[in-house]
Amino acid sequence: MPEDKNIAEIQGNTFKCESCGAVMHFEPGTHTLKCDFCGAVNEIPTEQQTIQSFDYLKFIDDNTTAEEIQVVNTVKCNSCGAVTTLESNTVAGSCTFCGSPLLTVNQQQQEVVKPHYVLPFIVNSQQAKKNFGVWMKKLWFAPSDLQRVVEERTAQALRGIYIPYWAYDTDTDTSYSGERGEYYYTTETYTEEVNGRTETRTREVRHTAWYSASGEVDCYFNDLLISASTSLPQKIANKLEPWQLPKLVAYDERYLSGFRAELFQLDAQKGFEIAKKMMVSTIESEICSDIGGDEQRINSYTTTYHDTMLKYLLLPVWMCAYNYKNKLYHFTVNACTGEVVGERPYSVAKIILTIMAVICVIILIYMMAQN
Ligand SMILES: [Zn+2]
Ligand SMILES: [Zn+2]
Repeated sequence: MPEDKNIAEIQGNTFKCESCGAVMHFEPGTHTLKCDFCGAVNEIPTEQQTIQSFDYLKFIDDNTTAEEIQVVNTVKCNSCGAVTTLESNTVAGSCTFCGSPLLTVNQQQQEVVKPHYVLPFIVNSQQAKKNFGVWMKKLWFAPSDLQRVVEERTAQALRGIYIPYWAYDTDTDTSYSGERGEYYYTTETYTEEVNGRTETRTREVRHTAWYSASGEVDCYFNDLLISASTSLPQKIANKLEPWQLPKLVAYDERYLSGFRAELFQLDAQKGFEIAKKMMVSTIESEICSDIGGDEQRINSYTTTYHDTMLKYLLLPVWMCAYNYKNKLYHFTVNACTGEVVGERPYSVAKIILTIMAVICVIILIYMMAQN
């Protein structure tokens, strides 16, 4: 797949209100476009649809048909490299991922592969801010001015953005060779000094006998989700799970109106390499249960992947990047479940004071016990 198809937020095309001509935005929690100016609403038609996966090899082969391609306006962040679309009617703004100003001169039109499905926003921005406020209040050892800094920042820079994900299904066959350990016990005699006399005693000792083992295991994986964004830290992306995938709808750019979308930076092949690593623990534990016995050793194994399928998804996130003492932190809200996942600074002063207080209490208790 050519490099230029692998990047960017997808530019929301504008949808004009039929009554007043203003721009209509997708309204979270609904399947409608709403006019902010006159309040008119427009249904987005949704058909009963079954969610299906697409052939992985065909997808990476770049035999994309014209219907699978769309032209979008994107802007690339000079600072972190994220390529995103902007909300319709936005002339400038800051990067969702790093907070750097986005230069409109960096806007360009490009051809990109259309996502297969989108999970529309359910949580709106007020709810996201509220959930974040609750999360902030529960933070231990947060610097005293953090709340104020972050509130100011979220007021102006909280953005709804669709993050690109790959969802993989694959059937794996693994042939392995290893060893099965079985316990057996022997009785040993030993001597011990008791009151100056040497006594002879016995004890049970456990040993492991190892037998070679080999075989084949099959594991099927369904909807392994890999973030295709390189700008949202992967550890945050992982914590945002679970997503309510049954709420996916066929991709329709109207769901993007009023929101940003990032185009995938990590292509489907690189994503699948990460997915393979995620499968390792399941495959290895399947091998161990196939070996059986009391202990297992895996010496080597090879895995083949069959019938690999994928879905290219856009998943909704409220996000704000904020700087605190020259360090970048992200806070995100899963816009489907409302779950908050954030990075936060710690107040060293508060931690030291707490440790000192604990030490004082221990000393006090010790002194009281002495009296
Ligand atoms: Zn209107
Ligand atoms: Zn950036």
